[in-house]
Amino acid sequence: MNASISTTLAQGLDAIIEMDAPLAGHTWFGVGGNADMLARPRTQEALQELLRRCHNANLKVRVLGSGANLLVLDEGVDGVVLKLDQPAFTQWTFNADGKANTVLAPAGVDVLKLLNACVRQGLDGLCQMAGIPASMGGATRMNAGGKYGCIGDAIHSVATMNHRGEIQVHPHNAIQFSYRHSGLPQDLILWTLLQLTPGDPAALRKKMLEIYQFKKDSQPLAQQSAGCLFRNPIAPDGTRTSAGRLIDLAGMKGFSHGGAFVSAEHANFVCAHKDGRANDVLELARVIQERVFTCHGVSIEMEVAVWGRSYEPKEKK
Ligand SMILES: Cc1cc2nc3c(=O)[nH]c(=O)nc-3n(C[C@H](O)[C@H](O)[C@H](O)COP(=O)(O)OP(=O)(O)OC[C@H]3O[C@@H](n4cnc5c(N)ncnc54)[C@H](O)[C@@H]3O)c2cc1C
Repeated sequence: MNASISTTLAQGLDAIIEMDAPLAGHTWFGVGGNADMLARPRTQEALQELLRRCHNANLKVRVLGSGANLLVLDEGVDGVVLKLDQPAFTQWTFNADGKANTVLAPAGVDVLKLLNACVRQGLDGLCQMAGIPASMGGATRMNAGGKYGCIGDAIHSVATMNHRGEIQVHPHNAIQFSYRHSGLPQDLILWTLLQLTPGDPAALRKKMLEIYQFKKDSQPLAQQSAGCLFRNPIAPDGTRTSAGRLIDLAGMKGFSHGGAFVSAEHANFVCAHKDGRANDVLELARVIQERVFTCHGVSIEMEVAVWGRSYEPKEKK
């Protein structure tokens, strides 16, 4: 990005701006290159203005949540990366506008902190998120969840903001929630309103810890990964089959390539070593896809978002 564009973008904006910003520390993989510009607006107005300026300058905008489902390639990313981690985007409100048992959660809210707060408050509906690292925006975008349910189950409505800074509210019944997919427009998610139900704090805490323990026992939560790398593919009978099982049956648990390896604990977790490269992870993903296809005749596709200057993501099925 040339200096005159970056000056025009940043001029008079209430935002923290960093040029040529390393992104590795913002992702759970902990690898990858730099963003031409990382912008962290302090207000909704600054966010709106920045989106308009980026659109006028024909610049690509990417939104970074907590980086738990993201691989940034070593080549880095062009345009502007937005991170909504300033207080205007990280503070939730219980029972906003007098709506009982609701939480209004801006996109930068840490879902696990919110889950703990809901449990203390005696509000049920988010325990399925125990052990899933996410910002509210990222969780909503991916419809994060698992065996115990997904975030969409608790969502009343979602507000998005488009490249002109216009806000649109989507009620639950207008959102096509499905397996790790929300069907929301590719705009920025601004906030999510959760509709929860009253519950006993002690019982909720027990439920949350049981779900967390289940995840901890079956997944390498302490490794540098982005959770499951591949989507569970659809079998001929229409049901989803476990990508992890297919990878395991292909004999790939523990397999490594450069600074990346398949977890010995859970075959759908591909992890990076501390000094690993993002391109090792991507290359290993390709090797896994080939092996699974050779062994089972099944194509598996990436669940993790991949960002790179020259990388074109494929449409997910
Ligand atoms: C140890 C571990 C365990 C995991 N277990 C699970 C699991 O059990 N179930 C599960 O579903 N996932 C799991 N994941 C993956 C991850 O936690 C989820 O996908 C989560 O929803 C990612 O949220 P994020 O804020 O980190 O999003 P990011 O990784 O930052 O971004 C993911 C995508 O969402 C988009 N995005 C983020 N914020 C916004 C926004 N405000 N507006 C628009 N788009 C946005 C990004 O542009 C990107 O395309 C796991 C990850 C790890 C590291």
